[in-house]
Amino acid sequence: MKRVIEREFIGVVLLGPPGSGKGTQSKRIASWYGIPHISPGNILRDAVKARTSLGMKVQKAVQRGELVSDAVVCALREERLNEHDCNSGFVLDGFPRSIAQAVWLDVFLQERSLSSATRCGTALLVIQIELDEDQIFARLAGRRICQSCGAVYNLYAGPPVSSDLCDYDGNALIVREDDHPEVLHERLVEYTHRSLPVILYYKNEDRITSVQGSGTPEAISRRIFSKIKNQRWLRGAESRSGH
Ligand code: AMP
Repeated sequence: MKRVIEREFIGVVLLGPPGSGKGTQSKRIASWYGIPHISPGNILRDAVKARTSLGMKVQKAVQRGELVSDAVVCALREERLNEHDCNSGFVLDGFPRSIAQAVWLDVFLQERSLSSATRCGTALLVIQIELDEDQIFARLAGRRICQSCGAVYNLYAGPPVSSDLCDYDGNALIVREDDHPEVLHERLVEYTHRSLPVILYYKNEDRITSVQGSGTPEAISRRIFSKIKNQRWLRGAESRSGH
């Protein structure tokens, strides 16, 4: 069966606590619809690793699990979302994480659609992945990443073939710096204080839908894809069975 063959703009925002699977699910959506996966967390971590000027600026916040300033993150978003490959859509993973970022995104999309000759749209499908705190800690305790290629594993739910080595390039797997328990606690506090209001922002305008984040990645994907397929902008489009 064919992938989506006719569609309008697909703008998906995945929200949820650390460990809810936003990264994994974003990659799947992006690859299925052929749209870019945009994650400020990955960009910021890479910048810290490469010790660029941006990396030096945000290093402390990222290592402590605190949010980077709205100005820095929105400037990064603007640059990325203006790239040509975002004209037909994108999946935002970990953005917006504050009310200021959510308002910025709405204004940005409106202005872009007014000024653009392309089919850039403004409609977002905002999906909240719900997961309780016990499951978050259990899941992140098992998360391992490959420092060179970025592949993500879970020792319990999706382990590598050979323990502690990446299946793709054989490099050593490590615990992400901000997955250590003290930092994780800080990330959850930040999530509750700054990101939960974002969920309320979209709820007040009836622009958000939620899915349960428990179960296998495949089960969560099925829930998410069924929400996407129910969207007006995908009606009539063909999609492969199995999602
Ligand atoms: P993540 O991989 O999405 O959990 O992000 C890792 C870290 O990057 C966070 O703990 C923050 O320090 C920073 N970060 C990621 N996204 C944002 C955002 N939208 N606003 C501010 N800081 C962010």
